[in-house]
Formats: sequence, C-alpha cells, structure tokens
Amino acid sequence: WSSKDFPWTKQLEVNNKKVFGNHSFRPNQREIINATMSGCDVFVLMPTGGGKSLTYQLPALICPGITLVISPLVSLIQDQIMHLLQANISAAYLSANMEWTEQQEIFRELNSEYCNYKLLYVTPEKIAKSDALLRNLESLHARELLARIVIDEAHCVSQWGHDFRPDYQGLGILKQKFPNTPVLALTATATASVKEDVVQALGLVNCIVFRQSFNRPNLRYSVLPKTKKCLEDVDKFIRENHFDECGIIYCLSRMDCEKVAEKLQEFGHKSAFYHGNMDPAQRAFVQKQWSKDEINIICATVAFGMGINKPDVRFVIHHSLPKSIEGYHQECGRAGRDGLRSSCILYYSYSDYIRVKHMISQGAIEQNSMTYGYSRSNMTNSGRILETNTENLLRMVSYCENDVDCRRLLQLAHFGEKFDSSTCQKTCDNCLKNTSFIEKDVTEIAKQLVELVKLTGQKVSSSHILEVYRGSLSQLVKKHRHDTLSFHGAGKRLAKGEASRVLHHLVVEDFLVEEVKKSDFYGSVSSILKVNDPKVHNLLLGGQRIILRFPSSIKASKLAKYEF
Ligand code: ADP
Ligand code: ZN
Repeated sequence: WSSKDFPWTKQLEVNNKKVFGNHSFRPNQREIINATMSGCDVFVLMPTGGGKSLTYQLPALICPGITLVISPLVSLIQDQIMHLLQANISAAYLSANMEWTEQQEIFRELNSEYCNYKLLYVTPEKIAKSDALLRNLESLHARELLARIVIDEAHCVSQWGHDFRPDYQGLGILKQKFPNTPVLALTATATASVKEDVVQALGLVNCIVFRQSFNRPNLRYSVLPKTKKCLEDVDKFIRENHFDECGIIYCLSRMDCEKVAEKLQEFGHKSAFYHGNMDPAQRAFVQKQWSKDEINIICATVAFGMGINKPDVRFVIHHSLPKSIEGYHQECGRAGRDGLRSSCILYYSYSDYIRVKHMISQGAIEQNSMTYGYSRSNMTNSGRILETNTENLLRMVSYCENDVDCRRLLQLAHFGEKFDSSTCQKTCDNCLKNTSFIEKDVTEIAKQLVELVKLTGQKVSSSHILEVYRGSLSQLVKKHRHDTLSFHGAGKRLAKGEASRVLHHLVVEDFLVEEVKKSDFYGSVSSILKVNDPKVHNLLLGGQRIILRFPSSIKASKLAKYEF
C-alpha cells in the first residue's frame, strides 16, 4: 500500500502540501489513504496525535461525492469543521440539538444535483434516530455521491471497550444499506477483542488493518502509593518537576475534582475543576482558560479529554484508580503530544479499587459520554457490561500492584503489542528501580490467607484479614476473638507489603471476591472478602502453585520517588 504509483498519487501529494500545509506523510497515512481509495474497508489503530483526520479528509477532497463522518462529540466535530472551512473545504454537520430549519437547509444541499459538501459529519445517534438522514444518504448513494463512510473513535462500538456507547452499535446498518461503499474505521485504542467486535458489529468485509506502535517514548510512567498526604505529594511533584506547566489531574468523583482543585489553589497553583455536573457554558469557559494558559491544572473526571488538543500538557496525574488499562493509556496519551518529555503518575491504593468497583456497580462512574448528554438509563451497568468493567478494573489493580515489570511492556501487552523492555531506557518506575527481581513461591501464604477468610466466616474486610494475619491485637480483633484463630500472627515475619501483595493477587486472580457492601452518605464504602469455592478448592488441595515476583533488593524499591 505504500506505492507511489496509484493514479491519485500526484493529487495526494499536491493537496497534502497546498491545502493541508504538510511537507510529507506521517507513518501509515499514505498506506491508509491508498487502501481506502482503492475501495477497501479499512481499520486503523493509531495513537492519539498520529494524524488520523488527514487519512479521510484528503481522500474526501480528491474523490467525487461526499464523505460521511460519524464522530461522537459535537465539540470535536465543530473543531474539525472550523479547520476544514479555514482550508476552504466545504463541510457541514448534523446533530440532534440543531434547529429544524438549519437541518432542512443541509438536507436541501444534499439533495441538490451537485452537492457542494465534501464532508458531512454526524453524531451516531443521528444515524440511529433520524429517518430523514438515512433517506438522504440513500438518495446520495443512488446518485453515486456517497464516496466513503468514516467511523471515528470506532472502539465505542464495542462493549468490551472502555468507552461503549449504545448508539454506535446501530452503525452496522450502514454497511447493510450501502454494502459497496468503503468504510474507514479509526481508533486510538483497541485491544484484539475490541477490534474483532468492531469489525463484526460494523460488518466490515475483508478489512485491511493498519496498526502502529502505541508506545509513547516521551511519556514517563510511575505508580506511587496513595497516602493521606497525597495532595501534598502532588504539590511537591508539580513544584519540583513541572512548576507553572500544564497538566491534568484525573479524579474519580465530581466532589474529588472540586476538592483537589481547591487544595491545589491553596498551594498556589492555577487550578480549576471540570466535570459533567457543570453547565456547558461553565465547561467551555474552563476549557478556554486552559487552552489560553490562564489555568495550568485541570482537575477533571474522564469527561474531560476526548477532543482535547493541547500539545504541551506536561503531566497527567491519576488521583485515583482508572477504570481500565485502555482508559489509562488514553488518558495518559493526552500528555506530551508535542513529543516533549512528560510525566504520568498514578496514585494507587487498594481501597480505591473497592470505591471504583462500587461506583461501577451503581453506574455512578462519569463517562466521556456525559459531555453529550447520555441519560443514565442508557448506560445501565448490568450483566455482561458489569462483568467486563469489573474485569478491566481488576487488570488495572494488577498493573498497579506489579512493581517488577516494565510499565510500557504491561500497557502494550494489553494492546497485543510486544515490547522489549530494554528499550524503555529506565523511563518507567519499575525499570528505574529494578535491576533484578526474584521469584517467590507464595502458595503457603496464599493458603493461609484463604483459610483465614474462611475462619472469620467470610464476613470481614481485606484489611482486617491482613491485620489478623500480621498478629494485630487491636480492639476489633479481640472483640471478634480473631486473636484465637489458628493463623493469627502467621504472617508476622513477612516483609512489609508482602502479605497484601498476595492477598490482592488472590482477588485479581479470582480466588477471592471483594463484595462491596454499602456506602454511607459520604460515599465511603465497605467490603467483605468471600471465597470463590471452585477455584480455592484446587488451591487448598495443592493442585496449584502461586508464584509472585518481587524486586530483589528491598532498598531499591525505596528509591527516591521523584527521580523523573
Ligand atoms: P489524531 O486524530 O490521530 O489524534 P490529528 O488528525 O488530530 O490526530 O492530527 C494531529 C496533528 O498532527 C494535527 O495538528 C495535524 O495537523 C498534524 N498532522 C497530521 N498529519 C500530518 C503530516 N503528514 N505532517 C504534519 N503534520 C500533520
Ligand atoms: Zn520500563
């Protein structure tokens, strides 16, 4: 596909320079354009900032007819249209909250003999809900004026993905109605299973796949323990590494966003919050202040992000556990789009896992989709979706608990990409601190912990189990007479953190299950550990060994936190 002998090659190169002002093509751009212009269905995986828009805007300009682009966010669409109009490319969009007369005008143009538009952008719910649009597309198609269908952020089609949107599922109708019109599906994030799901749901045939590495060499990753002094740590980190530079702090709840922003202001940073509970004008105001550098730090839920194009974001901090590795990778990806060195720090505590899990089961996690007004009921977290979300979250826990393997390797493995960790060049915390690791058989510890969960009647929390295992004589332990249990104190001699690593591993691997119990008015959540009998049975019978890797030097793991 990289050939320069296609009939359109000359036109491509001329227009890339003249209209878009680019001197050359970025990796895969020429290939993707050649494939889609040859009439093939194409699936593109390209990291954020890779230059996906050009791969359909340039063909749209050259090909006769109109290119239909489905994109999830009105703000993103408006941004694109503005750029296109500036480049003298005729483009329009249709969205649900548009005046009827305005829509009529666009439909009239679509029906005119030589439709002037080169690109028509629509939101997915338009395809799902507007018969008028479908009729117009049919008419364009009948007049051979429907050149191509582009599906941006295509991972939203998949329930396995981290950003599922119900209206995307209906897009399969396009291939049914227009089987011969080439489809170009684009995303910056998809695992192998998400890709399969998308290809199937859209009905793509003999689809050609382009993917490039998702590694972002200029980003530095680390996971730090989240303590009560987390915000002091954040302040110190920013002061020492990125003072007066731009950054995003992702928080779990709206209240967290506001609290964190306020605290950072007290520390003397120019910060503001951003979440789905603000009215659109407020949000637009904050976004504007941010892009003009009047505010440095945005404390936001994941509602902030899609369509953010600021090139000089120097740090992305996760104040609590992200929902999935995919989501985490994409959120981090908003840092350093200009290619300069930037930091990604995640503050992790196991108790956040319980909190996030609870919020997921309540459907209370803010989604990107908030920005364009999904009703909650559309996003009910039931059955398969809930299961997927919980599994994604557990993978994230496992990522955080891992203090041995290269962070890049772990992230990229999730996208099915092999990574040679020697090329990380110590740009993640684990590569920086670990010269080597040891493998340790922790089966006996695991068995004892499981026994303790059983002995305490599957009624207590993971931290209580750890206390008993360490031999605590706290009031609570005594009150329940847990100091008389046979494994009370059995883990006394273990290195700090070892027992909790094993216990959390048992949860991640589904031997034990955290059952989130209740939340009080202030949103605090308690949970109890239960035993997953079939899996545990085999373990207790000795049918399975559990091996964990630990940094070989404990000292090394205490290396200065702010090495970057
Ligand atoms: P994506 O959608 O993959 O995140 P965009 O299409 O928004 O990326 O492109 C990111 C930036 O790169 C834009 O500012 C765009 O103008 C620029 N860009 C895209 N292709 C090229 C190219 N061939 N040469 C130079 N700049 C490019
Ligand atoms: Zn590394």
